[in-house]
Amino acid sequence: MFSYWEKKNFLKYDVLVVGAGFVGLSTAIHFSRKHPKSKILILEQGVFPSGASTKNAGFACFGSLTELLDDFWHMTSEEVLELVNKRYQGLQKIRKEFGDQPIAYRPNKGFELLAEEQLTCLDRMDEINRFLKPVFKKPVFSLVKKKKSFGFSEQIKAIVQNDYEGELDPAQYLQELWREAGKRGIKILTGTPVERIDQESGAVFARNTFSDSLIEFQANQVAICTNAFSKKLLPDLDLEPGRGLVMTSKELDFKIPWKGTFHLDKGYVYFRKVGNRLLLGGARNSDFEGEKTLEAQVNPKIKA
Ligand SMILES: Cc1cc2nc3c(=O)[nH]c(=O)nc-3n(C[C@H](O)[C@H](O)[C@H](O)COP(=O)(O)OP(=O)(O)OC[C@H]3O[C@@H](n4cnc5c(N)ncnc54)[C@H](O)[C@@H]3O)c2cc1C
Repeated sequence: MFSYWEKKNFLKYDVLVVGAGFVGLSTAIHFSRKHPKSKILILEQGVFPSGASTKNAGFACFGSLTELLDDFWHMTSEEVLELVNKRYQGLQKIRKEFGDQPIAYRPNKGFELLAEEQLTCLDRMDEINRFLKPVFKKPVFSLVKKKKSFGFSEQIKAIVQNDYEGELDPAQYLQELWREAGKRGIKILTGTPVERIDQESGAVFARNTFSDSLIEFQANQVAICTNAFSKKLLPDLDLEPGRGLVMTSKELDFKIPWKGTFHLDKGYVYFRKVGNRLLLGGARNSDFEGEKTLEAQVNPKIKA
């Protein structure tokens, strides 16, 4: 039961955003910049944003050599270039807006480790560098000469370096977005899962976990920024979740002898150093079917 004042002040919005990940927060901020007087609310189901944005590997990347070559199998070359351009320009905008230090961005370069069966991709490296020239002006990929300096095993036959890749702390970046949203007067309610949206009336029904009841919000526009969970709110959507796993080791008592972001297997497997821990993730391609799920659990096959 809400008071007159609560109903008047807390339930009606120009825009209501569902989900407070990178996409939800950015959507709210950009809308607010265009319409500074608008009332904007973000509803987030977790006690803090609890999706991929704060669980990912923090690679500031746009595609490794084998990943881009793989993209050509299911996209036109114009689409591949546009995707790389958007990812790279997006990263530059983020860095410009928030600064490198607040998001812990480090331009440490990316490296792709190639086993024997992937060496053929090197034949196309110059071609891909020429293809990417409109975006980067200079060659992106080059062959690392002294692979031994990294200390990887003999299974690794070559290493491709990407001069434009970096790494960041994704939750620090999210906090910057959160701070910016706060500065703009955007309200964020956490622990408030949206259960249903009535597109005709603009009613958004969220669970009030405090009183275990439904609250009805009203909005002129609703932005659903719930990533893989979107099908719960829009059941007709043609969308399948692709869960991922990122693990970090304990603080190691020896020094990890390299820095940068590392990829294997078309970008499906990745690792980096975080402090002196090893972050290791991906491998969704070893169980595509098992990872088409919204369950927040560890896939033992992938962990192994
Ligand atoms: C394991 C893994 C590793 C990754 N590594 C990288 C990487 O290194 N570099 C990179 O660039 N990208 C990486 N990504 C991809 C990147 O993290 C995502 O593309 C990005 O975070 C998507 O942001 P989002 O806002 O769309 O989704 P999310 O961050 O998932 O945000 C969706 C939000 O909606 C909320 N929500 C869901 N349903 C509801 C509801 N009904 N009501 C209210 N709130 C709801 C969720 O709690 C969540 O906070 C990785 C992804 C995964 C899964």
